[in-house]
Amino acid sequence: MFLRTESSKIRTIRQYYRLDFPLDEIEQLFGDKFEEREFGFAFADGYFVRSVFFRKSEELLNFLVKKTPHHAYVGALYDGPQVSKKTRFDLLRWKGREFVIDLDIDLQQWRICGCQGFQCCMDCIKFIIIAAQLYTCILTTDFGFKQVRWYFSGRRGAHCWVFDEEARTLDKENRMAIINYLSLQGSDFRSLNWSLKKHFYEKVFLSFFHLASQEELEMLGFHPRLIELKTRHTLLSFSKKVGLFEGGDTILELKHVFSSDLFCKMIQNCILIPDRSVSIDPGHLLRLPYSLNGDTGKVARSIDDINDLNRWISCFFEESLLQSKHWR
Ligand SMILES: [Zn+2]
Repeated sequence: MFLRTESSKIRTIRQYYRLDFPLDEIEQLFGDKFEEREFGFAFADGYFVRSVFFRKSEELLNFLVKKTPHHAYVGALYDGPQVSKKTRFDLLRWKGREFVIDLDIDLQQWRICGCQGFQCCMDCIKFIIIAAQLYTCILTTDFGFKQVRWYFSGRRGAHCWVFDEEARTLDKENRMAIINYLSLQGSDFRSLNWSLKKHFYEKVFLSFFHLASQEELEMLGFHPRLIELKTRHTLLSFSKKVGLFEGGDTILELKHVFSSDLFCKMIQNCILIPDRSVSIDPGHLLRLPYSLNGDTGKVARSIDDINDLNRWISCFFEESLLQSKHWR
């Protein structure tokens, strides 16, 4: 649902940027060497422009208010942009970009709710939530990143930004290594290292068990007695009782309860794999946090608690705008 006419849409986009766009937050996220940061914009008539640079964040805001782009994107830092002249992109030297992850529901193959592609119902949203929790855990624990933040994509997904300085200077190979590690490329349960097994158990197995429907659990092959015990509290108590994670390879002792076939099936089916090309390409443009998606009318808000994601995906434009003063 979106506003009816193009002119009222533009009026509302302008009003959002003028009154609610959090410039202080943008300054905090991208303010360091703002003049070297690439931006890109798509307009209602299909025109797309990238390699746009601004001297300071206020200039970006003025552009958004005046030009009311349907989509606003932010990219990497480049050496030597000429703000006042038309910049030849091929002459710029890449300097850095945050590590990012793009989770979109169309990449989730295993769904028994009947949704396909970009269709997204409440049952689908849990795959984004579970994946976000898993990847946050891996990025902070295994890679030691501290500034991991999630933003609503403005459509049916979420974007992760890692703002640590170390992440900003990663080359293409290292970005690929991280995305391969966290998306469990070609892995099954038996080949995972202990740390991943632990993250997987805590962030995927327990969360999925908690959020899934009975039908989904049955399809995956959960033991009927476990499905009967379906409350997170009960499962956590159960884990505690058998001493899970208190030492070495205790998870392996649970094979008779959680067969490794079940874990393999869950790894293959229940983890929403990120769009690899977005993470690997150090110059990729990603939706500007807090910008407005001109197609859906939704704001790419910061998500403090990923469990709130369903609220943003399912809300409509007017509601989204009405809440905009209260979302930070
Ligand atoms: Zn669905």
